[in-house]
Amino acid sequence: MTGLDPLASNGSSVLQRRFSLGELVDASSFREVCSSYAELFRISFKVFDSDGQLLVDAKGNRGDLCAYVRQLPKGRSSCTKEVTTIREKAMAADKLSYFDCFTGLRYIIAPIKHEGDALGSVVYGPYRPQGVKMPDLAKLDAKVNPETIKRLQARTPAAAEEVAKRVVDHLVQVIEVILYTGYKQILTSRLHFEAVTSSYEELQRKNKQLRDSFERLKELDKLKSSFLATVSHELRTPLTSVIGYSEMLMEGLAGKLNEEQMEYVKTIMEKGENLLSLIASILDFSKVESGNLRLARKLTDVKSVVNEAMSTVIPIAQKGQINLISEVSSDLPQINMDGEKIRQAIINILGNAVKFNKPGGQVKLKANTIKVPKKIQKDDLIPAAFAPPDESFLQICITDTGIGIPEDKLSKVFDSFYQVDGSSTREYGGTGLGLAISNSYITAHGGHIELESERGKGSSFTIYIPMETVP
Ligand code: ADP
Repeated sequence: MTGLDPLASNGSSVLQRRFSLGELVDASSFREVCSSYAELFRISFKVFDSDGQLLVDAKGNRGDLCAYVRQLPKGRSSCTKEVTTIREKAMAADKLSYFDCFTGLRYIIAPIKHEGDALGSVVYGPYRPQGVKMPDLAKLDAKVNPETIKRLQARTPAAAEEVAKRVVDHLVQVIEVILYTGYKQILTSRLHFEAVTSSYEELQRKNKQLRDSFERLKELDKLKSSFLATVSHELRTPLTSVIGYSEMLMEGLAGKLNEEQMEYVKTIMEKGENLLSLIASILDFSKVESGNLRLARKLTDVKSVVNEAMSTVIPIAQKGQINLISEVSSDLPQINMDGEKIRQAIINILGNAVKFNKPGGQVKLKANTIKVPKKIQKDDLIPAAFAPPDESFLQICITDTGIGIPEDKLSKVFDSFYQVDGSSTREYGGTGLGLAISNSYITAHGGHIELESERGKGSSFTIYIPMETVP
């Protein structure tokens, strides 16, 4: 098709669009069909579009008479006049009409229609109308040779009016069938294009909505984090005073307390300390969330970090009658890490192992180093002989005999604020932040945490920290 404009020009549907003749046909094949038609009947014809633009000039005979007449000055001007008139008639054609030229030759002008609209016209001729007397062209110019004129007139193809009309009717029908096929093709391809365009636009719109929602959520998330940070910070100062004053009361600085008073103050202090550790984890979390997590790496003795973490949970383990076992390899190296963060990550996991346990249960911590074959990326075309050296990891495995985690929740427990039992009547306290914080601290060191668990039997969290962090 020529001039295929992907969108309907005014943006409206293709169904409302009017196409020009030139748009509905394939120019070169249309010209070929017209030429063979003209050759078949040995009469020339022209096809114009509705703007009078010449689309096809199919030659069926040599037009010698016209060429001869046009050599004569008067003949040329008359011919030009006739051509203009024919073109005007072609543009205005609504039904088949005839036009007789001053040479006595005849043209048939027929409209080409598509769905009732005139898309152009066919100007068929010139031919010699059979049985019609030819005019005397000798008057045209003194130089005219009457013999030549007679010879050329005789050479121009002649056709009976009925036959010429039938040929033109048939030609117009053929062109209209070509137009119909072209229209169907354009319609199909453009409707398809419109459908694809509108789905694309819909997708773009949805994408924008999603992007906007994402930006809004990010904004809200930022607000939430800074709100948490501010509130926790403001709560910490008075809480430290509450704990400090409870301590002073217990030490008898404000006079000796009786047994009952002592019990009350102890509870105030314990609850205050719980609250303080909650606030601390919220503060840690807001630091992670705001992207302000900075590691203070230095060569650290892994054994003492693990032991400190263990001793932190001893009091709650004793209270819950949980048996704590530690198997720390004696040859643990020093690692370039942020000992404070790693200690906190271990405490969070150990604390859970104790908290989600039953009296008489067990929590075991094992720390050692392991070598793991380095994972080869799929597109790394390294031959086996040059395989990279094994990677060394610090491996800390914390196993408990507690309540376990249902299989479908295993991937969620590392999400912030997620708790398997999120109900307000839940048995175990907490914020749902401990594992999220541990995970961020470990991944910040280039490591990862693996989790295995069976409901009712217990869980096993394994921390891996790459040893390449050794300077
Ligand atoms: P929480 O403050 O609730 O302990 P965490 O992020 O530390 O938050 O843990 C998220 C949730 O994962 C817990 O609420 C609990 O449901 C589950 N969970 C974590 N550790 C264990 C464990 N050792 N045994 C059973 N459930 C656990």
